[in-house]
Amino acid sequence: MGSITRREFLAAGAVAGVAAGAVGPTAAARAAWRPARRSARRQAGPVVVASSNGQAAVARALEVIQGGGDPLDAVIAGVNLVEEDPEDYTVGYGGLPNALGVVQLDSCCMHGPTHRAGGVAALEGFKYPSRVARLVMESTDHVLLVGAGARQFALENGFVEENLLTETSRQIWLYWRGALADHDDYLPPDVSAFTPEAQRIIADNPELFYPEQRRPTGTINCCAVDAAGNIAGVTTTSGLFFKIPGRVGDSPIVGAGLYVDNDVGAAGSTGRGEANLLNLSSFLIVEEMRRGLSPTEACLAGCRRIAENNVEERLQRPDGRPDFNVSFYALNKEGEYGSASIYGPGGFAVAGAGGPARREDRAVLFPPG
Ligand code: ASP
Repeated sequence: MGSITRREFLAAGAVAGVAAGAVGPTAAARAAWRPARRSARRQAGPVVVASSNGQAAVARALEVIQGGGDPLDAVIAGVNLVEEDPEDYTVGYGGLPNALGVVQLDSCCMHGPTHRAGGVAALEGFKYPSRVARLVMESTDHVLLVGAGARQFALENGFVEENLLTETSRQIWLYWRGALADHDDYLPPDVSAFTPEAQRIIADNPELFYPEQRRPTGTINCCAVDAAGNIAGVTTTSGLFFKIPGRVGDSPIVGAGLYVDNDVGAAGSTGRGEANLLNLSSFLIVEEMRRGLSPTEACLAGCRRIAENNVEERLQRPDGRPDFNVSFYALNKEGEYGSASIYGPGGFAVAGAGGPARREDRAVLFPPG
């Protein structure tokens, strides 16, 4: 086969483009065909919602929107505060690592006005996976990059690689590994030599270390609508604590851990990612809002769908209900917002809609008793 120079290649592409233009729709025709559904419609927000660890994030996001920023700028600036916080051991820097002691991060973001999204999964070594996800959205023709490819992409774009495993997270992981089995060669470590924070977390969270119980999870989801009704969202996490290396949860998967439709609203989730992957719950919630449910009702519908589809006995309590929790956060184009989880109690963070950053209670699918 004959070789072709880059110049010839580009020239050939230009000719092909002209030829295609001659038979295809003109730009004007394409613009006329495209429905105006991505534009903003009504007076709405600003409103920002987030998971309960997002109190500072919603405050920051609201500030950005009030300063004239795009809602995607706002939610990413908000969750960056949590990604860089070493004391949130469920997200970004300081997040608890996988089973091999490596912090692997998942994130995606979605921008309503352009209906574009970007994500990274199993990304190692970068504190702000939400920013890398955004760059996937803005600078590539793809939606999701994973593992080594995501790392390479981040490096090429000037993100600085760093060790995300804090001393406290490393010690908690060491303790988990020592407590995991009594037929391996790791003895339980001497906890008295650990940081006070590691000692506190180990003492307060026994469920982290007993395989017969579901490990607690954590993540931040943050969604916003501005005064013009434009919507964006982001989800970012270090995922399931001590996960199998390479495990990807719902957080970087559009439709599962996050979904935005600028005509309707946005939804995102925290909790057992596998349940969301099997139900595409964030997409479902946005569709339920499109059918007229309020954000809270739609979040409850997402919880109900998960409970109905949870037919595996190993994932059920003795009463047949899920033995795990999932929480949802949603808002619509009109600036209404809500949150629900399978089990309570719990809260979520909200800012705007007539008030500063605050915590409100979530609705619950299965209230106690
Ligand atoms: N949903 C996340 C995951 O499964 C974890 C979480 O929200 O806590 O990775």
